[in-house]
Amino acid sequence: MSKNIVIVGAGVAGINAATKLIDNNYKGKITIIDMGKDPHKRLPSEVMTGMLGAGGWSDGKLTYHTAIGGQLKKYCGEDKAMQLMDQVITNFKRFHPKPEEVQCSNPDAEPDFIKPYFGLRLFPVWHVGTDYLLEIAKNWYSYLVNNGVQFEWESKVHTIEFKENTVYWKDLTNKEWQQSYDELIFGVGKSGIDFGKGLAEQYNLPTEPKSVQIGVRFEAPQHHFQKLIDISYDFKLYRKFDDKGVSLRSFCTNNNAAYVAVEETYGNYTYNGHAKKDERYRNDMTNFGIIMELNGIEDPFTWSRDVVKQLQSIDNKGLYYSPSRKPSTTSENEPVEAFQISDADMTSVRRTFEGYFNYIDDFIDDMKKVFPTLKDDWGIYIPEVKYLSPEPLVDYTNLALTKYPNVHFVGDALSARGITVSGAQGIYVAEDILKYN
Ligand SMILES: Cc1cc2nc3c(=O)[nH]c(=O)nc-3n(C[C@H](O)[C@H](O)[C@H](O)COP(=O)(O)OP(=O)(O)OC[C@H]3O[C@@H](n4cnc5c(N)ncnc54)[C@H](O)[C@@H]3O)c2cc1C
Repeated sequence: MSKNIVIVGAGVAGINAATKLIDNNYKGKITIIDMGKDPHKRLPSEVMTGMLGAGGWSDGKLTYHTAIGGQLKKYCGEDKAMQLMDQVITNFKRFHPKPEEVQCSNPDAEPDFIKPYFGLRLFPVWHVGTDYLLEIAKNWYSYLVNNGVQFEWESKVHTIEFKENTVYWKDLTNKEWQQSYDELIFGVGKSGIDFGKGLAEQYNLPTEPKSVQIGVRFEAPQHHFQKLIDISYDFKLYRKFDDKGVSLRSFCTNNNAAYVAVEETYGNYTYNGHAKKDERYRNDMTNFGIIMELNGIEDPFTWSRDVVKQLQSIDNKGLYYSPSRKPSTTSENEPVEAFQISDADMTSVRRTFEGYFNYIDDFIDDMKKVFPTLKDDWGIYIPEVKYLSPEPLVDYTNLALTKYPNVHFVGDALSARGITVSGAQGIYVAEDILKYN
């Protein structure tokens, strides 16, 4: 008999899992519960929740390399990982109203002008664009609904009883609901990170060690970086200090119609970015994260949370520093919410980072050498963070908790940090469920 599957989180991971099941004529009941809205109601300000999750209002850069976007090949090996990512990219194209507009950037060599200051990670990336993602989400949603998937929107799951196989949630009117499951796919992404962490503590789940991933979102007029963008749209400049346990990389580059986005996690402001495709939105700006990976910090999650908390203004916004510029506007023409700070205030920012900010200062100084027109024509939104919650230990063959083999963790709730890897993890779990049905 086909199993009753409940998916918590209609994000990239959950939706790809459901799609894999439906594509293979899965006959059991599939219910997807999400605290956000369906794609017809979801607002641009709802960056993190709703159909396709954070991926739904992201920049839609689909990276295609196992060194990017979190853990995948450690579970299933290189070849399988690439094959799973292929399926995710195919899904995004398949529901795209104009799939021919999904462009691929695929640099094949590190350009000489960035040496000796930076290395450049070489990998293909498909760029979907924020505005098309909504259309994709609508088409994808119709496909799943028409094939019998049941969605519960604006429904926040607050409890999962792993021992009784039951999920509990409240709807908009605060009414309580519950549903039992045979298999649970837990894909709550970053917006559900606290929930995942709470479950890990409640059930005393064994975890794998993690690093700190923190930095700033850098923004400047695009022309300064055009030479590199022509080679690689989502360029990943990187440098490593192995003896110090520190590495840095530029992360999630947005160009042409590029906007900085506020990401609210745990009630604090952090920053990210996205880009639109439509020429109407062109602002000729570039933004990217300068993210440090810090190894060897005890309790990395708490350390990151504390640093982020301290990097908020008195009116609870994030910070903006620039030697010459003001914060930009969003694509809706609203100012990006950030409190502008002075040179003097940067001293306290540097102190908060406990010495690690020197690496970011050096990164920016060296960018000024590599991109000589840049000078002081840039700004940084502080902080950008990739909260890596303690990663629960899972069975690598199906991402099920070692203590609860019918509960599968996927996407950012497990170890992913991007769309293709999150979607691939969802598909990987679905493939395993299909084997036994
Ligand atoms: C602004 C922005 C731009 C980005 N750009 C890119 C990019 O260009 N390329 C890239 O690869 N990655 C990008 N990312 C990251 C990418 O979006 C995520 O890595 C990816 O969406 C993670 O997928 P997921 O399914 O794990 O979680 P998500 O897609 O975040 O989905 C999680 C879902 O779970 C739901 N949820 C959470 N808690 C609960 C609960 N308690 N009850 C019910 N539902 C719940 C949420 O509403 C959400 O819909 C970006 C992220 C942001 C915020």
